[in-house]
Amino acid sequence: MQKKIPLTSEQLENLTRTYPTPFYLYDEAGIRRSARELLAAFEWNAGFREFFAVKALPNVSILQLLREGGLGADCSSLPELLLAEKAGITSERIMFTSNDTPAEEFQAARRLGAIINLDDIGHLPFLEKHTGLPPVISFRYNPGALKSGNAIIGNPVESKFGVTREQLFEGYRAAKAKGIRRFGIHTMVASNELHADYFAETARLLFETVRDLSRALDIRFEFANLGGGIGIPYRPQEKAVDLAAVSAGIRRAYDEIIAANGLHPLKIFMENGRLITGPHGYLVARVRHIKRTYKTFVGLDATMANLMRPGLYGAYHHITVPGKENTTERETVDVVGSLCENNDKFAIDRDLPRLSPGDLVVIHDAGAHGHAMGFNYNGKLRSAELLLRPDGSVKLIRRAETIEDYFATLVVDGD
Ligand SMILES: *Cc1c(COP(=O)(O)O)cnc(C)c1O
Repeated sequence: MQKKIPLTSEQLENLTRTYPTPFYLYDEAGIRRSARELLAAFEWNAGFREFFAVKALPNVSILQLLREGGLGADCSSLPELLLAEKAGITSERIMFTSNDTPAEEFQAARRLGAIINLDDIGHLPFLEKHTGLPPVISFRYNPGALKSGNAIIGNPVESKFGVTREQLFEGYRAAKAKGIRRFGIHTMVASNELHADYFAETARLLFETVRDLSRALDIRFEFANLGGGIGIPYRPQEKAVDLAAVSAGIRRAYDEIIAANGLHPLKIFMENGRLITGPHGYLVARVRHIKRTYKTFVGLDATMANLMRPGLYGAYHHITVPGKENTTERETVDVVGSLCENNDKFAIDRDLPRLSPGDLVVIHDAGAHGHAMGFNYNGKLRSAELLLRPDGSVKLIRRAETIEDYFATLVVDGD
């Protein structure tokens, strides 16, 4: 699939007069469409809910439009809870999936009435002590050697998240003994996974666990949260995950394990971030210098501090050059930023249209875990975030940081 930004090169050039590069642009229509498609794929499951993983794109304007689209929020920190609240997402439309959690974050989650998903069995008495008991308890299950994990998230046995199968029995038994009557279960074992089968396998594992826990402890589960992790095609030759196939595989497992054992109804929850906003975000930057040494380096006005994924995971992000899409003059280059760090590269040995200083470049699929992972190393400032509305207008949803912002937290003698 050819990757394009939903603006002409003239429109983009015009936009940079108001908002200097680099900036992030999000396509509202695309985000709404992705949310709709996921909900539609799971229409068969009454109570299906997608809790958008706030960490992927922590911006209130985005959360507001996701709320309008029927999504909840998956939060893992106090600021993320407050972002959800500010966007009008409250009570059981919030899933609080955190780890190594401080008491005040549990207190904030309880104040909002969020569903609390515990990362350890020891967190149950901790929660009881600091907030009293919540009405619903969910534990995060780490299947360990029962599941192979994938590249970004790694081997479950090495993972710091969740509890073992044995601990699940202990945890729910303790919760039941304390008088809790509403239960859910969670797992998250994949990230950026493109194979539909993987999700059905995970569902099967979780449903079997629900069956075994329900029988052993005589408790009833309200929901099974399959986590996020549905991947997106970062490379043009990759295909989007077939959500109908994911849903059909999960439905089969549901019928065979949940329905067949009298455990129906069970709500299926998910907490995808990337799937919803990833493909609909663009980092727009401008070529500053072109340097030719042992290789050719195209230096942008954006850096790894704006988009860390390539430097952090060697992640691929497609790059296009508006206005030069059809040029036959091409060159293999490294696309770099200005950090004093040699892994500050958006692309290595990438075949691109021949670039000149001043050209705009678009870095695709930056709508999740993009701006959110930004940092200030080397005194780099976080960029603005813009929202392209369905009517074609563009709205500023986060201004760019200024030098004043950078200095604001310093405590200097004599000031
Ligand atoms: C990061 C994360 C997600 C979202 O992951 P995506 O790959 O963006 O779908 C969901 N749940 C938890 C607990 C996470 O840590």
